[in-house]
Amino acid sequence: MKTISRNQTITDFGPSHPPVETVDPGESVWVQTHDCYGGRIRTEKDLRPNIRIPVINPSTGPIAVKGVSTGDVIRVRIEEIRLDHQGIMVTAPGLGPLGDNIREADTKVIPIWDGMAHFSESIRFPVRPMIGVIGVAPADRKISAEAPGTHGGNMDTKAITSGSSVYFPVFVHGANLALGDLHAAMGDGEMSGTGIEIAGNVRLSISKVKNFPLSMPLVETDEEYMVIASGETFEKAIRVGIEQSVSLLKEFLGLSFPDAYCLLSATCDLRVSQIVNPLLTVRVAIPKSLIE
Ligand code: CA
Ligand code: CA
Repeated sequence: MKTISRNQTITDFGPSHPPVETVDPGESVWVQTHDCYGGRIRTEKDLRPNIRIPVINPSTGPIAVKGVSTGDVIRVRIEEIRLDHQGIMVTAPGLGPLGDNIREADTKVIPIWDGMAHFSESIRFPVRPMIGVIGVAPADRKISAEAPGTHGGNMDTKAITSGSSVYFPVFVHGANLALGDLHAAMGDGEMSGTGIEIAGNVRLSISKVKNFPLSMPLVETDEEYMVIASGETFEKAIRVGIEQSVSLLKEFLGLSFPDAYCLLSATCDLRVSQIVNPLLTVRVAIPKSLIE
C-alpha cells in the first residue's frame, strides 16, 4: 500500500500544485498528516504567540485520481484514522469568541492513549478522531488552508471520521485531494478556536461517482447525508446549505420545490460545524432512510 509522506504538503488549495502521487480509483492509501501547527508546538512551554508558524494547516498532497476530470464527483472513503500519542490545545489573546477575556497565552498538552484523551488528572474522555482539513483543488484561485469553501478545506466537521465518506465536486483534472489538521476530539462549533490538534495517519480510498449533482462537499455516515456549507455569516452559509439540500431532495425523490422544502423542514437537521474559521460552516443532515 502506498504511503504519502507528511513531508509533502501544500499550504493553500490551488489549481496548479502538481500531484505528489497518483492513485487508481478505489485504491487504499495511507496519508501521513502534521498537526495544524506543523509540529512546532510540542510542550507546554511552547506558547502560540512565541512560536513562528509560517502556515497553519499544512495539508498532505495533492493526490490525483486516475480517470477523474472536471465536472465529476469523487467519493473519499475514510477507512481508518490513527492518532499520534500527544494532542495540543492552545489559548491566546483574541482566539475564539471569548478571546478578548484572555490576557496570557496557554498551551495544554493532552496525552492520548488507550483510546482516551487524558485532559487532566481527573478528566478523561474517549477520543473522537476527525479530519479538520480535507479538500480538492478549486478551479481558478488559491484558497488558504485556513479557509473552508465549496472545495472543502478547513471545514472542521466532526462527522468527517473513520467510516464516513466525503463527496466533492471536481474542479481540476485528477481532483487533487489534500488533507491535514486532525483532531483527537472536537465538539460542534470548535468553540475555543481549536480542537485537540494532533498529527496522525489516515487510510482512505477515492472513487468516482456517477450522476451526483453536487456543488459543495457532502458527508455520508451510516445514518445521514450531510451537506457542508460555508459562508461569511450564518445566514449565508445556511442559505447555500438549504439550497443544495432542497435541490438534492428534488433530484433524488422527484419532488416539486414546495414539497422538497417542506420535507427538509420536517425531517432534516441544521447543525453548526465550526464558528472560528474565515468562513463559518454549517451542515444540513438528511436522513438516508428518506432516500434509500
Ligand atoms: Ca481546522
Ligand atoms: Ca485544527
